[in-house]
Amino acid sequence: LIELDRAHLVHPVASYRGHERTGVRVLRSAKGATVTDAAGRELLDGFAGLWCVNAGYGHDSIVEAAARQMRELPYATAYFGLGSEPAIRLAAALAERAPGDLNHVYFTLGGSDAVDTTVRLIRNYQTVRGKPEKDQFISLEQGYHGSSTVGAGLTALPAFHANFGLPFAWQHKIPSPYPYRNPAGSDLEAIIAASLAALRAKVEELGPERVAAFYAEPIQGSGGVIVPPRGWMKAMRDLCAELDILFVADEVITGFGRTGPLFACTEDEVVPDLMTTAKGLTSGYVPMGAVFLSNRIYDTIADGAGEAAIGHGYTYSAHPVSAAVGLEVLRLYENGLLENGRRAGTRLQAGLQSLADHPLVGDVRGRGLLAALELVVDKARKAPLPAAADPARRIFDRAWNNGLVIRAFGNGILGYAPPLCCTEAEIDAIVERTRRILDQTLE
Ligand code: PMP
Repeated sequence: LIELDRAHLVHPVASYRGHERTGVRVLRSAKGATVTDAAGRELLDGFAGLWCVNAGYGHDSIVEAAARQMRELPYATAYFGLGSEPAIRLAAALAERAPGDLNHVYFTLGGSDAVDTTVRLIRNYQTVRGKPEKDQFISLEQGYHGSSTVGAGLTALPAFHANFGLPFAWQHKIPSPYPYRNPAGSDLEAIIAASLAALRAKVEELGPERVAAFYAEPIQGSGGVIVPPRGWMKAMRDLCAELDILFVADEVITGFGRTGPLFACTEDEVVPDLMTTAKGLTSGYVPMGAVFLSNRIYDTIADGAGEAAIGHGYTYSAHPVSAAVGLEVLRLYENGLLENGRRAGTRLQAGLQSLADHPLVGDVRGRGLLAALELVVDKARKAPLPAAADPARRIFDRAWNNGLVIRAFGNGILGYAPPLCCTEAEIDAIVERTRRILDQTLE
């Protein structure tokens, strides 16, 4: 398998970074929070795949929901307006649970095309309401909004921009409210004030009549699990409303119980104009994303320009099998999974906090089952681990050898996003194995 993989399978990102030299690691099976490799070795999945297998692996009821739907009706094209019962029921169930009046659901295949979809819908909305000049988009440094071309331009990773002329001229960034490394200091009010000032300044620079929307993740995931101060999102959302800018919450990672509630923006009492989700929506068993639209935005587009304005979609939009999985996963969330995730999340945060005294740990942060350690070589100066001395790959390997899968970001940040089904013993094992990894990194 490893030979075939090297010869033929292109791994997104990994294949270009020499991973093929150390060889792909083939997973054979998985159950709950445990994955088993081809040699039969069991590891704890502290990252739920790619922050997505929220319900854990091997749920028979999810498999049965998919199989039942495959037998009954495996496909119906939303393109011709053909509906299917699971897609309609899932849209209705999501609308009922979404914040405020986000009552309209546009299903996609994942997070990147959900973000693309918001850009198109927003341009349509601004045009239909007579403001076509509102065509500038703002997002955050350290933000991640997908790897499709439009999403990659909103994403703040330089590696995603090279060779493609990204970001597009209409895509702009303002600094992240990164508490551990914010030039405004560690005072949370000062950080919020700095973000508000940066957004105002950017809007002023672009022209207040030109800005269409501002994008933010409730917690910046791929940027290194950066947790904005409490009240930050509400303050930014309110400023957007004042400036006639749409506020888009990208909940692709934070949605579906990762931080505690079904949607993280509710913790900050924020009702966004649009919201993107994916990952936990189907718990990674099948691909699906969902864009939520407010009544005002949907009605404006639908009444104002009909089909022409909404005119884009995908062969697999509102896929019945994905929707059937989504319905079953939602049932699981509401029958103990969210509650278990909240308990496990409290334990994970406390467990990781107990590592704060470790000489390598500069910062411990997170909420619920979303967390990170930021490793430094000098706590006072917050000097990052030198990339050459201990690149992400080595930390990943060290974790793997200790029976733990976590995300090792390139800058000494270790990311955690275990499944919501984790037991207390599994959370404790994640923390203990991490302690061992840190000790070995120190050696
Ligand atoms: N938005 C955010 C916040 C994400 O974290 C991701 C994926 N990590 C995406 C969008 C893109 O989702 P996908 O990989 O499913 O296209």
